[in-house]
Amino acid sequence: MCSGTRWAPVAERIAVVGAGVNGLATAWALRRGGHDVVVYEQFELGHTRGSSHGRTRIFRLAYPETNWVRLAQEALVGWRELEQESGEELLLLNGMLEFYREGVTSSQQALEECAADCELLSREETEMRFGVSPGKDSFVLFQPDAGVVYSDRALTAFARRLDIREHHRVESLGDVEEKVVVVTAGAWARRLLEPHGIDLPVIETRETVAYFRLEGRVPSVVAEVVTKGHGFYSLSDPVHGLKVGIHKRGKPADPGEVAGADPALVAEIAEWTRERFPLADPEPIDPQSCLYTTTDDERFILERHGRIVVGSACSGHGFKFGPAVGNRLAALALEALA
Ligand SMILES: Cc1cc2nc3c(=O)[nH]c(=O)nc-3n(C[C@H](O)[C@H](O)[C@H](O)COP(=O)(O)OP(=O)(O)OC[C@H]3O[C@@H](n4cnc5c(N)ncnc54)[C@H](O)[C@@H]3O)c2cc1C
Repeated sequence: MCSGTRWAPVAERIAVVGAGVNGLATAWALRRGGHDVVVYEQFELGHTRGSSHGRTRIFRLAYPETNWVRLAQEALVGWRELEQESGEELLLLNGMLEFYREGVTSSQQALEECAADCELLSREETEMRFGVSPGKDSFVLFQPDAGVVYSDRALTAFARRLDIREHHRVESLGDVEEKVVVVTAGAWARRLLEPHGIDLPVIETRETVAYFRLEGRVPSVVAEVVTKGHGFYSLSDPVHGLKVGIHKRGKPADPGEVAGADPALVAEIAEWTRERFPLADPEPIDPQSCLYTTTDDERFILERHGRIVVGSACSGHGFKFGPAVGNRLAALALEALA
């Protein structure tokens, strides 16, 4: 993965700790700006122990708050630029269905304020058009500029022409010789930052997803939307057809431990899938786990402390924003370099 570019003196270089989507997006933004950047990754690119592995993540503009809608619109421009640069198809925009209950703020108003299309559907129409059953008390909002980002392809596309040092674990930020260090270390970030007096207000949990056999491509679904966040979600998977998960139901986890999916959550996921996707094979395939690093209100932490730039953008919804988060962290890193 070495770019083979000329090296600037250490005093002008930027280090990124962590080659998940946020670290790679930051390094990509810096490289495009002509800056020298090196990425340190404790495992290998695409490993399955952090938060960014797997074939797909939901991409959506739909959020009940305009700031998130605008950030997603900015990210969409970035994904298109990365597609153009890499020649890879990274997005499948076949829409998203938001299922919400009475009394809950849907994304409709925020989308309209941001000039993004959306359409209210009846439950019957949803079943007929998409083969998805919203459940008897749900209202349905359809948003066409949504679907999935092919996450594994996205990591590879970002990584092209970057200098990535795999199997290089940064034990202490004090050991990093580059002038500026961007910490995008996912579930490991809190402990890495602590000795430097930076208190990251996050908790790390291990979440569960499972796959199901389904023919054709379904839109993404974000269901049981509550005031903040949502419950179940589903999305298209290029191998099995359907990927399903539950948001923020996993137990607190030590990222240093390797563990699989939670069988109780797999059973709940299978039951929901049986009710919502009558055309899918109800038998779960290949349950997997993935780490969340979550703030109390699902906000992202993007800030600078002297030479250290902190990028914690997860709370279970960070992938789609990768290019926009990368731009912000790159700007903070350049501020530190000046
Ligand atoms: C089950 C699940 C479903 C999700 N679904 C969606 C979705 O549908 N849509 C969406 O937008 N988002 C989704 N997300 C969230 C999204 O995947 C995350 O926000 C995103 O992957 C976070 O990336 P990251 O780069 O911050 O962290 P990570 O991908 O974990 O990357 C951090 C990297 O840092 C490395 N590292 C840590 N410490 C060190 C060290 N000391 N030295 C060197 N390297 C180090 C780690 O090995 C790791 O590779 C989901 C997440 C999960 C877990």
